[in-house]
Amino acid sequence: MPGFEIFGSQERKEVMDVLETGVLFRYGFDNIRNGHWKANTFEKKLCEYTGSSYSHLCSSGTAALSIALASCGVGAGDEVILPPFTFVATFEAVLNAGAIPVFSEIDETLCLDPLKLQDVLTTKTKAVIPVHMCGAMAQIDRIKEFCDTHNLILIEDACQSMGATFKGQSLGTFGDMGCFSFDAVKTITCGEGGGVITNSANLYEKAHQYSDHGHDHLGGFDRGADDHPIIGANYRISELNAAVGVAQLNKLNDILTIQRRNKKAIKDAMVELNQSLSNKNIIANSIDNKANIEGCDPISFRNILDDEGDSATFLSFFLPNENRAREIKKALADNGVDGCFYWYDNNWHYIRRWHHLKEMKTAAKLPLELISSYKLNHNLPQSDSIMQRTISMQIKLSWTETDIEDRIRKIKNAFI
Ligand SMILES: *Cc1c(COP(=O)(O)O)cnc(C)c1O
Repeated sequence: MPGFEIFGSQERKEVMDVLETGVLFRYGFDNIRNGHWKANTFEKKLCEYTGSSYSHLCSSGTAALSIALASCGVGAGDEVILPPFTFVATFEAVLNAGAIPVFSEIDETLCLDPLKLQDVLTTKTKAVIPVHMCGAMAQIDRIKEFCDTHNLILIEDACQSMGATFKGQSLGTFGDMGCFSFDAVKTITCGEGGGVITNSANLYEKAHQYSDHGHDHLGGFDRGADDHPIIGANYRISELNAAVGVAQLNKLNDILTIQRRNKKAIKDAMVELNQSLSNKNIIANSIDNKANIEGCDPISFRNILDDEGDSATFLSFFLPNENRAREIKKALADNGVDGCFYWYDNNWHYIRRWHHLKEMKTAAKLPLELISSYKLNHNLPQSDSIMQRTISMQIKLSWTETDIEDRIRKIKNAFI
């Protein structure tokens, strides 16, 4: 997720536009800002890029999730279904909205399993937040069908999937609202930043108001003349951050092209490697009659429903079992293949290590703690069995052809 890899003169130019005026605020100061409206410019481009009617830029992806929840009317006591494989921000936003996170299983898309949603549905369920993890899509059509059937709000956490599509349609545009992150390690970055998109004028009104103390933004030059139709917060982005984002968004198509090319080279090599490992297994089996490991392919790949829509930030694959995954993870590191993630042991992206959540370690009491009957569900055997076998490799923009060849050689060495 490497926007930071291609930082250059365009970013500097956009930032200098802002520094030269000294107007770091996204609203007002019309006559001294030299025509520079970086947040507005980004929003317009984001709408064009995603094909969504409205967008609002904010201070982070986490803020985007909070804004989306508030705008959609999700709050105290509402249950929100989400996956256990995500960044902690997703459940943080739910908790901070006063709502109740309810975890549901993932499948081999590495995202929410639409078939399991029914199991956690209750009369209190208000919303579902699928997370399009590691650059590619959840089964968003089937999740949307479930939400429509049960009259639930659908908020897409597309923070890791800027530029990704499903059947030609941008992720983030299937639900009521979509959320993006432009933090320092995402596909494109503002340094810090986030955004919400929606096709609903009403939700958009709520979003820009909520993220700026409830300002209706109708007072014109005099911000003090704005009315405050709702109580809000401050999730604003500065013009400096937005300026970086404008330059990065202009590069998004090039970023995607390079990522997809680099990912394809590595994946093709691993498909071939899988074939040769399978053949070896067959020979080994016929010699000493030893069963293939659980009858699985030596390497199998994440289920990506629409390859063309993959933003290709990661190549994720499964090993036959946990032991083999741990062995390969170590072998990849020993062979110098960097940027590999074994999520089952990860502190930030899988529920297993979220001790703070399981033990409700908070700075101050949360609304959720007033519900005495609440019990966090972290018994997710299907998700565990997938995460135990999953390794994801980060795809970099800066790799040269020689780097890629070198990498493929090292990967092969790790498996043999
Ligand atoms: C990065 C991320 C967020 C939060 O974004 P920030 O901009 O860092 O607050 C939320 N959800 C997912 C899935 C993310 O990867």
